Parts: sequence; C-alpha cells; structure tokens
Amino acid sequence: MSATPKSLEHLVERLMTLPGVGRRTAERLAHHLVRAPEAEALSVADAIREARARIRPCSRCHAPAETDPCPICADPARDGSLVLVVETARDLEAVESSGAWKGVYHVLGGRVSSVEGVGPDTLSLDALAERVRTGVREVCVATNPDLEGDGTALHVAKALEGTGVPVTRLARGVPAGGSLEFLAKTVLAEAIENRRNAKSP
Ligand SMILES: [Zn+2]
Repeated sequence: MSATPKSLEHLVERLMTLPGVGRRTAERLAHHLVRAPEAEALSVADAIREARARIRPCSRCHAPAETDPCPICADPARDGSLVLVVETARDLEAVESSGAWKGVYHVLGGRVSSVEGVGPDTLSLDALAERVRTGVREVCVATNPDLEGDGTALHVAKALEGTGVPVTRLARGVPAGGSLEFLAKTVLAEAIENRRNAKSP
C-alpha cells in the first residue's frame, strides 16, 4: 500500500501529464501546492482557467492570442506579404524577441515526427497554402535545424508547390541540432538575414 493519500497521488499524476515533468518534480510540486497558503495554490488553477478561456489561435497565423487577429497580424507596420513559418508559438517568441523579422508568422502547431506519430495532416499546412494565395511574396521556413525540422520543412515546401510563392529557409548559421528557442538573438538575426532558396541545398 502506498502511504500517499489518494487525492495527492491524483495531483501528482495530473502534474506528470505536463511536458518535462517527471515523477520527482511532480511530487515536489504537489507537496508544495497542498502546503502553500490556499489562495496562492488556487491562483495557479485560476490562471490556468483564465488563460484557457481567453486564448484562442489567431485565425491568420494560428499563434495563441487574446484577440483575433493577433497583435502581430493586426499591426499595420508589419509586412504581411512576408511569412515566417515556425513549428511552435515558443519559436515565434524567440524570433520575435530577436527583432530580426519584420513580416508576419505562421505557426504550424508542431513538427512531423514518425517517433511521436505526428503526420503532416495534424499541422496547419492547408491553412498556410490557403493563406499564401492572398498576396504573399515570400514564405521563409524556420523549422528547427534537425532531422524532423528538415522533414517538416519539406512538407511545407510540398504544400506550397504550385502556389508560385518563393519558399526560403533560414541560413545554416543556425547550428544543426540546435533549437530556435535557445539561439542567441544575433545568430537568429543573421540566419534570417542570410536566408536562402529552399530548393538549393
Ligand atoms: Zn496572427
């Protein structure tokens, strides 16, 4: 028999469903949440509820936002004809904080991964293809520079075949196997500046 009360074990198991949270971390968090002042602990639950209620994917770029279109898509100072394709909203934030991209974004919502059983049809590729038919002059693919990111980039290029819109990729200044999220802003800015045609290796 486990000495852990049932409801505490349930909390541990729920926390373990979060990405990157293993049993030890989940146990530490759970014990903290039941020991902390009630208002403080429940404010976590409230914040989850509020974010869930307010945040929707932007109908243009699919980034999570409280308004639709999101502030970036709605900004008249951004060049709406330049679209940077990223895997996740976290990658968008990384590029955005580098200040190097003056266009808009398209969030795929993940990456094609045979290991995780994610096929191209779960990504927002159709929406992207639809979108580029309305006055887009360049799509730059900024998937992460690893095997799955490269594979995902091929799916993006394939989805845009026949649209006539040039597809570029970030320059190889991005170290292979690296993640956009953890890149220095200057490296990211350089990779964007030196982006290249997706068809020439
Ligand atoms: Zn948007």
